[in-house]
Amino acid sequence: MSDPGWNPLHGLPSYPAERYAALADRIGGILQSRNDILLVQAEAVVALEATAVSLASPGLSVLNIVTSPYGGWFGQWLRRGGATVRDIVAEPGLPIEIEVVATALDAAPRIDVLAVVHAESASGILNPLPEILALARSRGIVTVVDAVASVGGHPLDVEALGIDIAIIGPQKALGGPAGVSALSVSRRAWELILRDDAPRDSILSLADLKRWIDSGRQALPGTPAPLEFFALETALDRVEADGIETLIARHALAASATRAGLAALGAGAWVPPAKASNLVTAVPVPAGLEPAALISAAARLGVELTEGLGNAPNHLVRLNHTGPRATFQAVLANVVAYGVALRQAGHPADIAAASEAVSATYSR
Ligand SMILES: *Cc1c(COP(=O)(O)O)cnc(C)c1O
Repeated sequence: MSDPGWNPLHGLPSYPAERYAALADRIGGILQSRNDILLVQAEAVVALEATAVSLASPGLSVLNIVTSPYGGWFGQWLRRGGATVRDIVAEPGLPIEIEVVATALDAAPRIDVLAVVHAESASGILNPLPEILALARSRGIVTVVDAVASVGGHPLDVEALGIDIAIIGPQKALGGPAGVSALSVSRRAWELILRDDAPRDSILSLADLKRWIDSGRQALPGTPAPLEFFALETALDRVEADGIETLIARHALAASATRAGLAALGAGAWVPPAKASNLVTAVPVPAGLEPAALISAAARLGVELTEGLGNAPNHLVRLNHTGPRATFQAVLANVVAYGVALRQAGHPADIAAASEAVSATYSR
């Protein structure tokens, strides 16, 4: 007889401790990083806060590039820890201009750390990461990159780019779980973190997590949450089977098909391709139309479109093609639903041409 109280989520097997280090190595492979890889048992924003809390100290000088609320929060956490933070804020919904970064670096007497988000899912923009990192590296500045959205959607070679701290989450382009995240930490970054007054005995302490590395990666830093860790393994299995390059190419294709479809609809994308992320495409809503009305019209077709978030101008609608949505079906549905929504709002939209454009991009 079946037990009505039985649930497959009860009594899960423990995540095998001996697989923990292998998991970190696999993350290192995805990031092309030979630095220390730490796993954090929480969503990626916690890994970001842990990074800020662990770096911050009075006397630390940070140049913080803000292109979304994530960058804003990172600056706040650093300030709370006593650091001197200079925010440079991009135009709403746009990437930072490299000249602005160069000017800010030249103007500052001394900068220890530069922080930047790689790609933004809030507005669909891509910051000029290699150029920013080159400026920082030439000045000996320790770099922190929020690559939560970009990993799996854009090339991210931690070693070649010289990223000191990269923070990632599996739940965006990698299509994995949201309750675990990871960081790659360089020797130079550890020098800033492992101060005598570093925060300790805290869930936000990277110095605490370092004990796992120092113990030869034996004593686990806690009990791995089985569901999250098994799910992360499965996500990595799939990414490794296809190859990270394939996953990135799939996102690039989804982005270019979306752009082609929108252009054929007569609705240009918000930023040019070189400034756009492969994860979401933002489209400016025609004057006189409301994003909310277009989003509702698409929802009636079962297609989820969203408004631009944070400091993105509020007249943007986002078409999401991240992770499991980086497919022909999702891209076609997004573009057609947006076209239907425009038409229902009384705006002309050539849905047939848009479908042709998406199909043609996928058939090349
Ligand atoms: C999604 C995202 C985060 C944080 O993700 P959570 O895991 O949801 O906390 C951080 N930074 C960027 C750029 C993101 O897109």
